[in-house]
Amino acid sequence: MIRNIIFDLGNVIFNFKPEKFLHRYTNDENYIEEFISKVIRSRIWLKLDRGTISLKKAEDKFIKKFPEDHDFIVMFFRHWMEMLTPIQENVKILYDLKSNGYKIYILSNFIVEAFDFVENQYDFLSLFDGRIISGKEKVIKPELEIYQKLIHKYNLIPEECIFIDDVRAFLSQARKLSIKTILFSKNTNLRKELRKLDINI
Ligand SMILES: [Mg+2]
Repeated sequence: MIRNIIFDLGNVIFNFKPEKFLHRYTNDENYIEEFISKVIRSRIWLKLDRGTISLKKAEDKFIKKFPEDHDFIVMFFRHWMEMLTPIQENVKILYDLKSNGYKIYILSNFIVEAFDFVENQYDFLSLFDGRIISGKEKVIKPELEIYQKLIHKYNLIPEECIFIDDVRAFLSQARKLSIKTILFSKNTNLRKELRKLDINI
């Protein structure tokens, strides 16, 4: 019997769409693509996720590495968290799961400063019964340790858990521990997928 539903945050509970966000500032597609690969797909960004570098330090590093992008980097670091807007239909599901007696958890690669930002903005985050945020734990998905941390910290039985993520590779790790999974994408009807796994929702 499933008792616990575990949620990723980025693109499951909060939108994270850098491409769309950067279009606010330029229409140059090539520049946007290049910027994303230089900054968001960089090793420095992974360090942010892992919580081994501060946001300010990361910004300084990017400026040093790409001085030609100075202004854009400064602008990006000032505003990027604004793209973290809630995915409303899934937030509604959180409330419904709680009303129906399920426990809900967060398991997310998320930058500490950004988590503090969304936590200050959105009351629904207090609905969660527990959370493992990579930046706070210094370990990231898909490392098995982060999944184990969640299980141990909250005494979960993996067979009683469903994990929802938008990254396939992060789900396969969860399945290794006997956690059931749902791949979420913009075309997923999450309510329907949960019902398929006999969740009362
Ligand atoms: Mg995600």
